Amino acid sequence: MPKNRSSRLWRSARRRALQARNRPGLQRLKLAHKLMESEKYSQAGIIFEELGVAAIGRGIPRAPQLFLQAGRAQLLAGAATHGTDLLIKGTRLMSKMGQADRLPIVSRRILSELHEFSMDQEYRMFESELRRLLSELDLKIAHNNRVESHSKLPSKCPYCGGTIHPDEVDWHNNYSATCDYCGSFVEINT
Ligand SMILES: [Zn+2]
Repeated sequence: MPKNRSSRLWRSARRRALQARNRPGLQRLKLAHKLMESEKYSQAGIIFEELGVAAIGRGIPRAPQLFLQAGRAQLLAGAATHGTDLLIKGTRLMSKMGQADRLPIVSRRILSELHEFSMDQEYRMFESELRRLLSELDLKIAHNNRVESHSKLPSKCPYCGGTIHPDEVDWHNNYSATCDYCGSFVEINT
């Protein structure tokens, strides 16, 4: 990588990292991801939902992902109906907030997680809502088409600890993408 590009990227990454540290809600977000890791799903779900509501209020484009994660947490906590409602809300928000192009891949991942968790009823409910939403948008659930060149991102965001799905995040270029939860600039491992 040419020196200028490298130092510009570094400065930009550093600025974003500083911004991330000062951003309100980042500590709550980190806590929610930690609670998920310790299988305290119900507590994590409450925080993700609360952050999602705040993000909608401020028009932050990460709001849908916070609702999707709140839904995942509540499903794992055994709150099937609330969890499924949150997943549906997250996908509807993606459509409203101009992220419809990401829906086919995100939907595929959520459905495969529901299948993995053996949540058959929730799978059927979410799938039927999803098919309705996608047909309104003239889209379909994606087939498995993981992009290999995008596989070098760290598996967790270094700023908030959220899981990074390389084929779902917004890429700035071949070297960096935005964390879906905290909006930090995350660079590939070189
Ligand atoms: Zn993050």
